[in-house]
Amino acid sequence: MHCPFCSHSDTKVIDSRLVSEGGQVRRRRECAACGERFTTFESAELMMPRVVKSDGSRQPFDEDKLRAGIMRAVEKRPVSVESLEKAILQIKSTLRATGEREIEAKLLGELVMEALKELDQVAYVRFASVYRRFKDVKQFSDEINKLNSSN
Ligand SMILES: [Zn+2]
Repeated sequence: MHCPFCSHSDTKVIDSRLVSEGGQVRRRRECAACGERFTTFESAELMMPRVVKSDGSRQPFDEDKLRAGIMRAVEKRPVSVESLEKAILQIKSTLRATGEREIEAKLLGELVMEALKELDQVAYVRFASVYRRFKDVKQFSDEINKLNSSN
């Protein structure tokens, strides 16, 4: 790590702590030449599998898109940002744990549905109705009945 002030190549870490729930390391560094201090943030570069859509096209995993989809489903529902972020982390770690370089969009959709089922049943049905494109009203009410009977 070169010093951003004088470009000297030797800097030493004087403090190191975990931030963002352990997902990042914040380091205070001091330049051995000019004595200036600066902060760096490090996070592991995690390989997310690419997403294969039903038409065969491939897309990089898009966390913002995932978050937007979930937020749309939980809109005006009593779901905290914290539990929502936790669900997103869970989905990402499940995807990484597959060890696959590519996963089907279908799997991602199923994971989101599983997560929403835990968070909020209305949000779940909202998402499922868009995702599964229920063919008719009956299919939709069957899904709701399934939810009710599982309680
Ligand atoms: Zn320096």
